[in-house]
Amino acid sequence: MHYIRAVDGVVSRAAVASGAEGAAVVPVHDGLFDAGPPAHLLGSACDSCGLLSFPRVERCGYCGEVDSRPVNLPATGRLWAWTAVTTAPPGYRGAVPFGFGVVELDAGPRVVGRLTEPDPDRLRAHQPMETVVVTLHTGDDGQVVTTYAFAPTVPA
Ligand SMILES: [Zn+2]
Repeated sequence: MHYIRAVDGVVSRAAVASGAEGAAVVPVHDGLFDAGPPAHLLGSACDSCGLLSFPRVERCGYCGEVDSRPVNLPATGRLWAWTAVTTAPPGYRGAVPFGFGVVELDAGPRVVGRLTEPDPDRLRAHQPMETVVVTLHTGDDGQVVTTYAFAPTVPA
C-alpha cells in the first residue's frame, strides 16, 4: 500500500482504488484530479497562448481559441491566499472547520481549493504546498467521497 501523504484525512491510492473496508470510493466529480501518486489536478494547456487552465476546458478562457489539450498539472505550488471555513455551507456533509484558499501551481494557474490546514495562523504567503486527495465525507451507504486539497509541505 502506498500512501500519498501521511496526514489525517488523506487517503491512500490503494484506498481510493478499493475502498478502505470494501466500500466504494468515488471522486466528488469526475475529471478533476488523479490520486496518483503523485496526486495531481487534471487541466488543459492551450497550444495558441500556452496558458494552463483548471478544470479542463476545450476552449481556452484566456485567448478563446479551441486549441486546448489535456495535461496533468504540477502537483506542487505556493499558497497565494487563504481563510478558514467555520460553518458548513448548504449541502456540505464534511467536517468543519477546514482551510480554503488559492494555490498558484508551479508554472500553472491559480487554483481555488480546500486546504488540509484549518488554522489560518499556521499558513503563510508563498508557503510550499502539494496536491493531495482527501476524504470529503462518507455517505450513509458507506461510500467514501474524495476530493483534492492542498497540504503544506513545510510548516509556516
Ligand atoms: Zn489560449
